[in-house]
Amino acid sequence: MQKRPYNFAPGPATMPEAVLTQAARDMLDWNGSGMGVMEMSHRGKEFTSILEKAERDLRDLLAVPGEFHILFMQGGGLGENAIVPMNLCGPVGGAPQAADVRTDFVITGGWSQKSAKEARKYAQVNVAASNEADKHHHLPDPATWQLSKQPRYVHICSNETVFGVEFHTLPDLKALGCDAPLVVDCSSHIASRPVEWDKVGVAFAGAQKNLGPAGVTLAFVRDDLLDQAMAICPSAFNYKNVASNQSMYNTPPTFGIYMAGLVFQWLKDQGGVAAMETLAIAKSKLLYGAIDASALFENKVDANCRSRMNVPFFLKGDDGQPLLDAEHPRNAAFLAGAKARGLLNLRGHKSAGGMRASIYNALPLAGVETLVAYLQEFERTLA
Ligand SMILES: *Cc1c(COP(=O)(O)O)cnc(C)c1O
Repeated sequence: MQKRPYNFAPGPATMPEAVLTQAARDMLDWNGSGMGVMEMSHRGKEFTSILEKAERDLRDLLAVPGEFHILFMQGGGLGENAIVPMNLCGPVGGAPQAADVRTDFVITGGWSQKSAKEARKYAQVNVAASNEADKHHHLPDPATWQLSKQPRYVHICSNETVFGVEFHTLPDLKALGCDAPLVVDCSSHIASRPVEWDKVGVAFAGAQKNLGPAGVTLAFVRDDLLDQAMAICPSAFNYKNVASNQSMYNTPPTFGIYMAGLVFQWLKDQGGVAAMETLAIAKSKLLYGAIDASALFENKVDANCRSRMNVPFFLKGDDGQPLLDAEHPRNAAFLAGAKARGLLNLRGHKSAGGMRASIYNALPLAGVETLVAYLQEFERTLA
């Protein structure tokens, strides 16, 4: 078979080839059952065994402590932006619904911005810190965050997929004098490094970046947070309901869970999350190193918060300024040359312009090496 191109798409994103091959083998007949996974009852013993193994493997991979429920949901990361406040902003301990429930958000890019906007439908939102003023090039130091007195939760996006800003370590709210649970949108770097569970209340991630196909959303919810949903929270999105029904309150996204399960097995075979972290450090170091060494390309994000998964970079124009316009002929020439070399989907997000390489777990080191060689070649041809 011809070698597949390297796919740098931000999500849905490249999947391990071994997983796709296995899925193709299983398509008509999973494990001698005479049925493809899509044709199975979600409550039958075949699918139940798929779900149980997927959950076990994920708990194992991410070292998820016993007090966290792992929920296989639908609705995506954006769905969770509403699901989280509906689950965390309701009455607590038999008290009536409070009118002035407060939540805190740290804005570090487009995704946390969207999360804050959605939460405003359900609760008061305090922006505790923002990096908008410097175009999302740094992370606001937690010591400077203006946290509310008693927020229901504090939301961060631990890896901003568009601007390429990553918390390399999660903030410790307790050390900041805040008892509220931390809610983490980790959609675009889940399983690329261990999770600091002692700092987390709720974590969520759409599967389509690092875990599988679109359609499955993982939510990790600490046990003590299951009982404070708002009355308006839909039953199918109520964490307690989903948890007490083992993610089977309604029909779960069965095929997506099966695919994610294959990815979990693949991750274990690769050496788990520790091996993925080592690989992510190697790949990102190589790429940022090449960008920094170049006179033609640039990335302005602070070194201490550069994303290891999403690497935006910009060509400079003749005036030395970054060419944000994706339609600029030089950007177009770069992208066309990349495609001709089997390097796909390097166009930047429409709100950021330029280029972006998403280098998730399944994107091999050789893909980044090929990209770096192309960056250098492109620069030479312009010199
Ligand atoms: C992709 C992404 C989302 C959006 O997820 P949907 O599944 O499209 O709702 C949310 N948050 C982050 C950080 C993302 O990268």
